[in-house]
Amino acid sequence: MQEQKTGVIKLKNFVGGEFVDSVAGESRDVINPATAEVIGSVPEGSQQDVDRAVEAADRAFTDFFEATPAERAQILFGIADAIEDNTEELAWLETRNVGKPIAMSREEMEFIADNLRFFGGACRVPEGKAATEYLRGYTSIIRREPVGVVGQIAPWNFPLAMAGWKIGPALAAGNTIVLKPSEQTPLTILRLMELAADVIPPGVLNVITGDGEPVGAGLVRHPKVGMVSLTGDVATGKEVARAAADTLKKVHLELGGKAPVVVFDDADVKAVVEGVRIGAYSNSGQDCTAATRIIAGPRIYDNLAAGLAETARDVRVADPSEDEEAEMGPVVSEDQQRRVLGFLERARSEAGAEFLAGGGTNGSKGFFVEPSVVTGVSQEDEIVQREVFGPVVTVQRFSSDEEAIEWANDVPYGLAASVWTRDVGRALRASKALRFGTVWINDHLTIASEMPHGGFKNSGYGKDMSAYSIEDYTVVKHVMASLD
Ligand code: NAD
Repeated sequence: MQEQKTGVIKLKNFVGGEFVDSVAGESRDVINPATAEVIGSVPEGSQQDVDRAVEAADRAFTDFFEATPAERAQILFGIADAIEDNTEELAWLETRNVGKPIAMSREEMEFIADNLRFFGGACRVPEGKAATEYLRGYTSIIRREPVGVVGQIAPWNFPLAMAGWKIGPALAAGNTIVLKPSEQTPLTILRLMELAADVIPPGVLNVITGDGEPVGAGLVRHPKVGMVSLTGDVATGKEVARAAADTLKKVHLELGGKAPVVVFDDADVKAVVEGVRIGAYSNSGQDCTAATRIIAGPRIYDNLAAGLAETARDVRVADPSEDEEAEMGPVVSEDQQRRVLGFLERARSEAGAEFLAGGGTNGSKGFFVEPSVVTGVSQEDEIVQREVFGPVVTVQRFSSDEEAIEWANDVPYGLAASVWTRDVGRALRASKALRFGTVWINDHLTIASEMPHGGFKNSGYGKDMSAYSIEDYTVVKHVMASLD
């Protein structure tokens, strides 16, 4: 077990079924954000790596187009088995690369395997319009076909999980893939390719590493890539959508969020505090659906704010490799730490915010930020409007149900929200009024492979998970046969 927590791992790209260095022979180091130590080395990609991988995926598509759903399912089950059989190794690698608690990494591995198996099953039961004679003398058939080569670009907050969410529906639909993990967190997906290589037909799934430009942007530009799927920042999403317009690619975007937690006066305070503890601070708040804006009723506000402050101070923050009970580790990088602390500093100095808990760093090494609770903020303040992507919540007091919904919706994002109340009618009215792709009632963060995940507004378009995401990775073809 100890060797999984230490050492430096050297990994290669996976292209056309082979493990290869970058074409130019360059590599880059990968670090552990809890210690700032080098833990890995991976190829540093260029446009030539994109071209090589896209060619491999394009060649593989001809054969893979003939694969039956059962054959595609076998690949997904094989990858899921490789994850399950190597959970400890992959979980530790993820923990060391992202700084997340080991219990969380283990849960993620279990969920990714479940997710891939869901897609293995779901691709065998496609649904759609019945073939029939919509015009006299003609039979119409709707076919759902793969797009072809799909370029997939993943973020650093859930490296293997986000890769899994992309691979599952794309392979289920019969596409071939070139996937680029975040340059900061490429280790688990490359190691998984080593573990699962024997179940992946050459070229069907390729993984190449490198920066957004040239490798991510190179995929978006490539004329043989028919669709691009990005999980990342809103600014990156806009750039990808603009660049994809040149080749009229299909685009699938899972972008940032700023989830409100609307707490009515009749809510169970203890349950909200527990929900926010998990929803706001797990993964150091680096979750696109993280609970970030607590919008509380006039009578519940004082108790809730006090409870949130107490729980934030109680969160166990440590290097997850040293403390397996750690609830929260560092944020992912020095840049991210600087960014989060910048938001806190500006909230204090420019908006006059108060901190009921946190507000600074902790630990002498690594990139830690304290779990923070911020009050005294206004709706238009930057810390309320923009995604911080760190362990930070703001708390606002509303005066009417209408104001609560107005504030909740008044951000550019629309990924996820939660509403907390014991009144079923109120909960359902709010769940309709909240303009977000997911609304939880008396919970926050929970997901299921069968159910869609995806945003409204600046949080992007297209769904992850569920049968909806398989549809996103297909194109509709109408075959119309004359009966004469
Ligand atoms: P990011 O946008 O900086 O990077 C995401 C990926 O895009 C990386 O692989 C990066 O190399 C690549 N990239 C960067 N510039 C590019 C370009 N011009 N063309 C093509 N690719 C490019 O995001 P991040 O910092 O890695 O991840 C955090 C962000 O991801 C947050 O905003 C978070 O909310 C979002 N996120 C969203 C979801 C969701 O499901 N909606 C899930 C997880 C994370």
